[in-house]
Amino acid sequence: MTDLKQFTLDELRAWCAERGEPRYRASQLFRWLYQRRARSFEGMTDLSKSARASLARTAVISWLPTARVEPSADGSRKFLFTLADGRVVESVLIPDAGRLTLCLSSQVGCALACRFCLTGVLGLIRHLDPGEMVNQVLAAQEQLSPGQRLTNLVFMGMGEPLHNYANLVRAVRILTESVGLGFAASRITASTAGLVPELRRFAAELPRVKLAISLSGTTEEQRTALMPINRRYSLRELLQACRELPLPRGRRLTFEYVLLREVNDTPEDAERLVRLLRGIRAKVNLIPMNEHAYAPYACPEEARVLSFQAILRAGRVSTFIRANRGRDVSGACGQLGLSHLQAHPHGAPRAAARIA
Ligand code: SAH
Repeated sequence: MTDLKQFTLDELRAWCAERGEPRYRASQLFRWLYQRRARSFEGMTDLSKSARASLARTAVISWLPTARVEPSADGSRKFLFTLADGRVVESVLIPDAGRLTLCLSSQVGCALACRFCLTGVLGLIRHLDPGEMVNQVLAAQEQLSPGQRLTNLVFMGMGEPLHNYANLVRAVRILTESVGLGFAASRITASTAGLVPELRRFAAELPRVKLAISLSGTTEEQRTALMPINRRYSLRELLQACRELPLPRGRRLTFEYVLLREVNDTPEDAERLVRLLRGIRAKVNLIPMNEHAYAPYACPEEARVLSFQAILRAGRVSTFIRANRGRDVSGACGQLGLSHLQAHPHGAPRAAARIA
């Protein structure tokens, strides 16, 4: 059986053509899937009975069962979605000053094993397919109150989106399709730990989608100790790629920097970061470490965070401190995946697939 939610509109057109369906069928189906949220073919009343029956023989429409919702005291909500194979992925809904952002997962687990990140402890369990990514959006929309609308989508949940490159690109194409959900590409962000070839390719292929780069270290040695991927793609190479990315007019690249107490939070780090970002239209988001039981790092004191920010600002780098939304429900950056670890407390975490 073919899940129609795997297909971009172009792919669906090709699939329909192969089956001898009329030309308009693909956009008609797209509307049913994403605008009217059909869950079966029976209700597609503008298709003939025989067309519906023939679709039902070869295709299915996937969706995610209602999530378990964990509301945070700060107004954000974590959703736990159980996938068809029983694996669980998490998305986080974050209301903030007129915006409503959904933080999406792109993989179950992650291969990159960044030392401060809980999802990294799981290793890569598997990639999500495009339907599983898009269905997180559809399922989250069902949880909104009337009048609420998702304004932004960020691939900053579980997983390294650029490690699941083809499926990510497909999911973005589906989400931005005008006969579908119609999200503006500029309201979608993909965040990467720094897969350089995929980063270049992605920026060329989908130039309107925003990019965020997780830096979190200011020397090669320090970054390698925190993010093993730095062995494969060095800080130097990563920043060179960032300098060369084709940025739309007025657009800046976002750099994320997880602040770890007495590890990468010194004034020297801040000064080095200013120098590293020279020549890049950059904005920095400082994320004070969200502590969890699987990493030996602590969150710096507030004064330390503020002085790090002050040094960057003095160096004329716009710098923001990201509030730790959803920390109380383990829904903050780097805390997703706890449900897996709790479900298998005795099983050793899978060895991270060696892509680093
Ligand atoms: N793999 C992608 C996206 C997922 S992580 C990436 O690395 O960008 C989303 C953000 O959370 C990244 O910037 C990451 O560095 C940050 N992060 C990971 N663990 C964290 C933690 N324990 N505390 C705060 N931020 C963390």
